[in-house]
Amino acid sequence: MGAIKCIGVLTSGGDAPGMNAAIRAVTRAAIYNGLRVKGIYRGYRGLLTDEIKEFKSQNVSNIIQQGGTILKTARCQEFTTPEGRRVAYENMRKEEIDALIIIGGDGSLTGARIFAQEYDVPCIGLPGTIDNDLFGTDSTIGYDTALNTILDAVDKIRDTATSHERLFFVEVMGRDAGFLALNGAIAAGAEAAIIPEYDTKVDQLEEFIKNGFRKSKNSSIVLVAESEITGGAMHYAERVKKEFPEYDVRVTILGHLQRGGRPTAYDRILASRLGAAAIAALMDGQRNVMIGVDHDEVVYVPFSKAIKNDKPLKEDLIHVLRELSI
Ligand code: ADP
Repeated sequence: MGAIKCIGVLTSGGDAPGMNAAIRAVTRAAIYNGLRVKGIYRGYRGLLTDEIKEFKSQNVSNIIQQGGTILKTARCQEFTTPEGRRVAYENMRKEEIDALIIIGGDGSLTGARIFAQEYDVPCIGLPGTIDNDLFGTDSTIGYDTALNTILDAVDKIRDTATSHERLFFVEVMGRDAGFLALNGAIAAGAEAAIIPEYDTKVDQLEEFIKNGFRKSKNSSIVLVAESEITGGAMHYAERVKKEFPEYDVRVTILGHLQRGGRPTAYDRILASRLGAAAIAALMDGQRNVMIGVDHDEVVYVPFSKAIKNDKPLKEDLIHVLRELSI
């Protein structure tokens, strides 16, 4: 592989607020450092179908404040096959793209890792997911915005929950990670969080009823991480109806509104910093790493580590929630 002259950037998998800020940072940092940039549309699919466009600085003007991704995103089944990846590689060569920057979650970085192993293509990943489930970075792009969206929603639910003296189960995203549920619960002053990381260890509903729900309280809000492991908010509401029929229980599923909205200052700064660091990493000869932040320092995390390791929840946060919800 010769010197890198042109990079391709794509967003893949689930969208997250701040992806645009990352695209902008990658594009401008590349141009600043004398590289050409090509935007690849609809994730890996655009590599296969050759939906690729040269980006100048103006192509990323006025997007830092927008949610979603101007490059669109998609899931691409063909890219999971060797034949599909060959087509992707051939299109890259045709477009004279020497290196790829992939903004996405766990699945997208898994694809990047496999692609980089098969072909001699330098790939750099940026953690773009609201779930915060990538190991090696304190936060992922989009997580802080989603957390703030959850707070807005739960504050509103609290008004009605208190007026009617109800128990609400609010389902939040997070896939198999409880970061949004746990930190959302702490920040919103919720009574409990039901998270996948604890589901096999204790009966979280029983524990909550025992510790958290008190008659003296006007209302209770429990955040439930959407996950096959927990079974989601409906599952817990059904259980309460059967096992504790004295409670007036309701469910709110926040759903896709958690993915949208203007990115917070934190996510914009994170995305800008990581985007610029991705270009610096490529120019520095780094390959096949995800860029993250650890203790407010930029770090390079090998794909294998970022994907394979379960990111641990901070145990002290679980105690904080329990102590403060009495
Ligand atoms: P996310 O990146 O948000 O976790 P997905 O898991 O849907 O989202 O992955 C996004 C895309 O990454 C997939 O549609 C596919 O194109 C690619 N991908 C995921 N897993 C693999 C894999 N094992 N091999 C090759 N490509 C993959």
